[in-house]
Amino acid sequence: MGSSLQSYKSSESSPRGSNGAFSSTSSVNTPSIHPLPPLETTGPKPKSPFKVLIVGAGVGGLMMGLCLERAGIDYVILERMQQLQVPLSAIQLSANALRAVEQLGILEDVMKISKPVSMIKLRKHNMSVVGKMDATYTKERYGHYSCIVQRTEFCQILISRMPPGKVLWGHYVLEVVNGNAGVQCRCANGYVEQADILIGADGAHSAVRQNLYNNLRSKGLLPKADTESLKFKLNAIVGMTDSLDLERYPAVGGRFSEVNIVVGKDTPYTLWLSPASGNKVAWCVAGDLLTPEGSNNATFKQSEFGPEAVNAVCALVQDVEIPWGGTLGDIIALTPRDYITKLMVEEKHYKTWHHGRTVLIGEACHKFTPFSGQGAEQAILDVICLSNLLYRLNDQPSHQEFCAAFETYHNQRSPIAKSAIQASNNMSHLMNSQGLTADVKRRIIFNLPEWIMNASLDKIQVRPLLDYLPAVEDRGFKKSVNLPGNSNE
Ligand SMILES: Cc1cc2nc3c(=O)[nH]c(=O)nc-3n(C[C@H](O)[C@H](O)[C@H](O)COP(=O)(O)OP(=O)(O)OC[C@H]3O[C@@H](n4cnc5c(N)ncnc54)[C@H](O)[C@@H]3O)c2cc1C
Repeated sequence: MGSSLQSYKSSESSPRGSNGAFSSTSSVNTPSIHPLPPLETTGPKPKSPFKVLIVGAGVGGLMMGLCLERAGIDYVILERMQQLQVPLSAIQLSANALRAVEQLGILEDVMKISKPVSMIKLRKHNMSVVGKMDATYTKERYGHYSCIVQRTEFCQILISRMPPGKVLWGHYVLEVVNGNAGVQCRCANGYVEQADILIGADGAHSAVRQNLYNNLRSKGLLPKADTESLKFKLNAIVGMTDSLDLERYPAVGGRFSEVNIVVGKDTPYTLWLSPASGNKVAWCVAGDLLTPEGSNNATFKQSEFGPEAVNAVCALVQDVEIPWGGTLGDIIALTPRDYITKLMVEEKHYKTWHHGRTVLIGEACHKFTPFSGQGAEQAILDVICLSNLLYRLNDQPSHQEFCAAFETYHNQRSPIAKSAIQASNNMSHLMNSQGLTADVKRRIIFNLPEWIMNASLDKIQVRPLLDYLPAVEDRGFKKSVNLPGNSNE
């Protein structure tokens, strides 16, 4: 196995000539977005034209697997965990992702583990309501409600639609070889897998990205911005309760999820409470009161912390009042400790999304804060765009054709992901700032006239389709924005 790894290495160091020449594959070229030619066929390919290796079985990697499955393109997913993790939290999905979810035939099942958001209420520490945003109109306007979806169950649905054996659990990828003839990954357990291309869907601290960037840095091709570590200002603790007693918490049992955000006064924290399906609550507290020891150290890269840190932070925030009576301590007591995670609230948009035969999706190339409601959705939008481009490639595409597809993917997706990160950054700053100015800004934002809110949301409606599957109707009366190369009709 080691020797075949070496042979891939040597192919990288001796680029081929005219046929699929290894010209500059840097992803920092000038963006150029060309409309895609019409598709000649649809439906799964009768014979897989190439093989894809995906690293990471999170929302992005599993969604990619399912989209390739439906496209008739061979793939395998390597995941470091031994099995799907217990519920950590919830993700938020809106019409932008749900239209393709419907195309994949899993919408009904996804709705069973989801709760549509009716309202977001902003409260002061004393529970008085500062402002509220209605969200029920999204169904009519954009075709779907915005939903709180249980993350692990969503992943389970994706896995259930793939043939057995497609996800190789317990395969921790350590080393990547990105050659001209193919790619190869070596795992901690000695296992080696190879394929024509590699998709890094391995999250914020992606091993695929680190391998790729080390290689680019050694060639002087890595932009300086990509050498800087993730930006983090806050810490957060997130959890998902067991099913709650509806007599004690009636607000949790309704058809809709009324999300409450409580901004602290003297203690700098912000609490998010989102009722989820199954009478559970996804909760998150963010603040700089949770700063971990050692986090100022430049080499401190851990995003998640161990059980001691979780216990310490739970003790810090347990007296925070909640709008349903009682304190956060009551909610923490109803949350299994395994379902509580402490993490650093990091954000970053990387410039380099691909090189050679390796491409990144999801948090590996754009990291959102956990309360932005964007992380999973943007990963799914990456998948839709990339799988449409891969489907259009011929049988046994050349190195250059793969590189060109990745460049088009980057040019289409990167600006959108970048502006979503900017918006999430502004919101994160607003919701986690203290003082009078921040109070006034929050009051203004949460009391904006409906037409202003609509105008800003209308602009980000893309609702793309997988263009090799039968289209589903765009049910929203406000039609989606038509992006070049984005099939949404
Ligand atoms: C605790 C938590 C709460 C969140 N809450 C929300 C929320 O409320 N709303 C929202 O929209 N988003 C939320 N997110 C983010 C959201 O889940 C992700 O943005 C989304 O899942 C897309 O991420 P991804 O698939 O790119 O990466 P991830 O979901 O991080 O998946 C990456 C996968 O790669 C695996 N992996 C990592 N390294 C390796 C390796 N070397 N070898 C093999 N496998 C590897 C990991 O085990 C993981 O399964 C949350 C994330 C976390 C961690």
